[in-house]
Amino acid sequence: MQISRWVAKVFGDGSDVPEFRRAQYSELSRQVPLMYAIIIINMVMLALTYVGKAPAILSIWLPAVFVAVCLVRALRMAYGRHHVPSDEAMGRALRTVVVLACVLGFAVSTWSLALFSYGDVFTQGQNIFFTAITIITVMTCLRPLHQVAPALFILVIVPTAVFLALQDNNVFPAVAINMVLAIGGMILVMQRSHSDFRDRIYKQIELDSQRTQLESLNGAISLLANQDSLTGLANRRSFLNALDQRIADFKGDGKTAGFAVGILDLDGFKPVNDVFGHVVGDRLLQEVARRLPASLPPETLVARLGGDEFALILPPAGVEELQEICRRALAALAHPFTFPEGSVTISATCGIACFPCAAETGCELFEKADFALCYSKQHDRGSVTVFSELHEAGIKKAAAVAQRLRSVVVEQAFHLDYQPIVDRNGMPLGFEALARWRDPVLGDVRPDVFIRVAEQAGLIGKITVPLFRSALRAARSWPDDLRLSFNLSAFDVCSETTMTAILAEIDAANFPPQRLMFEITESAIMQDFSRAVDALSLLRSKGAMVALDDFGTGYSSLSYMRRLPIDRIKVDRSFILDLENEATARDIVRAISSMCQSLGLECIVEGVETHAQLHFLATSGCTGYQGYFFSRPMPQAAIAGYLGEQEQLRKTA
Ligand code: C2E
Ligand code: CA
Ligand code: CA
Repeated sequence: MQISRWVAKVFGDGSDVPEFRRAQYSELSRQVPLMYAIIIINMVMLALTYVGKAPAILSIWLPAVFVAVCLVRALRMAYGRHHVPSDEAMGRALRTVVVLACVLGFAVSTWSLALFSYGDVFTQGQNIFFTAITIITVMTCLRPLHQVAPALFILVIVPTAVFLALQDNNVFPAVAINMVLAIGGMILVMQRSHSDFRDRIYKQIELDSQRTQLESLNGAISLLANQDSLTGLANRRSFLNALDQRIADFKGDGKTAGFAVGILDLDGFKPVNDVFGHVVGDRLLQEVARRLPASLPPETLVARLGGDEFALILPPAGVEELQEICRRALAALAHPFTFPEGSVTISATCGIACFPCAAETGCELFEKADFALCYSKQHDRGSVTVFSELHEAGIKKAAAVAQRLRSVVVEQAFHLDYQPIVDRNGMPLGFEALARWRDPVLGDVRPDVFIRVAEQAGLIGKITVPLFRSALRAARSWPDDLRLSFNLSAFDVCSETTMTAILAEIDAANFPPQRLMFEITESAIMQDFSRAVDALSLLRSKGAMVALDDFGTGYSSLSYMRRLPIDRIKVDRSFILDLENEATARDIVRAISSMCQSLGLECIVEGVETHAQLHFLATSGCTGYQGYFFSRPMPQAAIAGYLGEQEQLRKTA
């Protein structure tokens, strides 16, 4: 081993690169068996020449040992061709080849010289031929190990040449010189060919490493292209690809089962971002991405579409089973998320569409799941809706409404009714303007329907501004102490154009802004908290007031209620409906009213329909009321009469 290290050091090519060693090994394992075959033939021929002339130990036994060693080595190398050893073992094997080449070369040439004295001039000629041809064979076959040739030159050729030069014969010294010069020259040529071999291998190594880099780069790019970087889930692109693939599989073999697409949207995520910051928001999304797959069947594909929206490809199941599966996922998200900054509770809503019954293309399927999601959000947040024929009819109706909305002239098609908001004694504090649309084709369309369709079709701005102008015109004829309440949608609040137009209308009408109350729903604010806060602040800086509408249906918590620039809260009608029967509803109304007191806000209760409700509310601390019990919404023309009656009542009271 020591010798081999020394040899490797002196004659080494300085390469410890494993790939280079591997290339050397593979080249050698192809040539070495052939090399041994040639050597064995050479040895047998030389030995046969001397049988009977030289002692048996030299002519039979020693060559037999050499042949045996050569055979073993040849077989080992041949075996190595199919069993690639470890890099370390390969290094050892290569060193062994170098050492063996030197030792065997030296031994065999010494054997040949030992036989020399037993032969005549002709057999001696064969000895010289044997040594030269054996050494040339070894040098050629072991060319990838470039230290072998110089070593053999020193260990074999030079001593043999000296031996020949010392013979008492004038041909042998000439042969010796010839041998040294010819083989020396050959070594130079081989060294050059070795450096070509080395260059070729290094180029190959470089190419391989470039290819590996390229492959890993390609891998990273395709991962980035298909993975959501924040959560590690599949991204929108990868989800849509998977969806198309599933549809193609279904249509292709006819054996693949159907499936369902789910879209899941978090409720109350945006305020988390706004209140706790984006870092907490990101961690929340990561935790959602962890909880979701854990709560769904293992074969579900879970993707993040962007923001707080996730998509699912669910295994085939019946409507009820699908609802149950998704309810479990929603329940998993309902547990509080705990962060060092505080604990956060959110919920989620889900829409599902089944393939192939709801739609036959990926795009349509996605749209229908999205529709089911919107439906869930509007009717029952936190629930799961599976797209059905009912929704299909809803979509058709919405399309018809949107179609009509595009073609009507708002000023002619729409009008406003006004519903009084009254104080504890039933005396009017102001009126809420409520839009009405009686279409010659569609008939009466409910405001919550056309407002939603207008929002979705991007037509709400077209409605809001003319209606506001008309409300201002009407309110100018009311007594100065009565306020005008006007509803703004989420889209209005987030649209700079609409907000600018509203401010311009106030100026143009020369209406005192202090008499204006803009009503914005909680969910509208939650859609884009910071933008909504900016818009509300703008209205308040103008002198107008702001009411938080439908309070209790959204996700306001005390922490961001404080940050909202508002003057009034309107408790949602749903609480008043349950007032008489449900203690919880009573507690909620009481709690909201006392929260308003502590925050210095007016508290208006909507939807008061009965005397019993009013009776309860009288002790709840609310500051104002609205509802059919006091008055239904009325046209502008009826307001003067209503106000006259109220005045009469006040006087008689
Ligand atoms: P909202 O802002 O909560 O308006 C109050 C709704 O409750 C009105 O329904 C009103 O007619 C109804 N209401 C009042 N008192 C009672 C009651 O005692 N019992 C019952 N059952 N209902 C009562 P309406 O007019 O159908 O409006 C529905 C929603 O449409 C409104 O809810 C509002 O969010 C939206 N909306 C109406 N007009 C406009 C508008 O001009 N612009 C915008 N952006 N939204 C509007
Ligand atoms: Ca309202
Ligand atoms: Ca309301």
